[in-house]
Amino acid sequence: MMILKNLVVGPFGSNCYIIGSESNKEGMVIDPGDEAEVILRNVKDLGLEIRSIVLTHGHIDHIGALKEVKEVTGAEVAIHTDEAKSLQRQPLSTLLGLSYPTPPPPDRLLQDGDSMDIGDLHFGVLHTPGHSPGGICLLGQGVVFSGDTLFNYGIGRTDLPGGNYNQLMNSIHTKLMTLPDETTVYPGHGPDTTIGTERRGNPFLHG
Ligand SMILES: [Zn+2]
Ligand SMILES: [Zn+2]
Repeated sequence: MMILKNLVVGPFGSNCYIIGSESNKEGMVIDPGDEAEVILRNVKDLGLEIRSIVLTHGHIDHIGALKEVKEVTGAEVAIHTDEAKSLQRQPLSTLLGLSYPTPPPPDRLLQDGDSMDIGDLHFGVLHTPGHSPGGICLLGQGVVFSGDTLFNYGIGRTDLPGGNYNQLMNSIHTKLMTLPDETTVYPGHGPDTTIGTERRGNPFLHG
């Protein structure tokens, strides 16, 4: 069984997900965007030992609490190869006039098809470029964590550095819309949805 806790953190309302394996209490944090103390308190309350911190991509609103969560948990930091340099250089934070602690370098570079294993839980890495070059979604246990690639009735913006609209649409159509209707989608911002709901009603996927 999967433990799943969703926290909405920071000024951009980023979704941080804490995943845990009921069987051995190993855990994973997806996108520690901000509010490290809130994330760490929830990890503690859930009784999890965090093994991995997975970044759907490197934008500031998804990594603002990375340094602190990494320091406290000692977990490995995993990000797609094509996104790793965003941890050193933050054009977006400069753009937005934000400052935040320099994040640690990644411990693990991910590729499409890699798997992340947390206790008895298994997640596959889907490389979904378009919002950013090394954006990923994580698929497993009947759910997909979609980062800023796909939202509830929305799609990721492509006007930021490294964004590409055609690439984004291709990622959504070839990697996400091929999943079963009942797959729950947990996006990087906003409420969860399902693949079927988006397939039928997402206005950005039609016309
Ligand atoms: Zn983003
Ligand atoms: Zn975001």
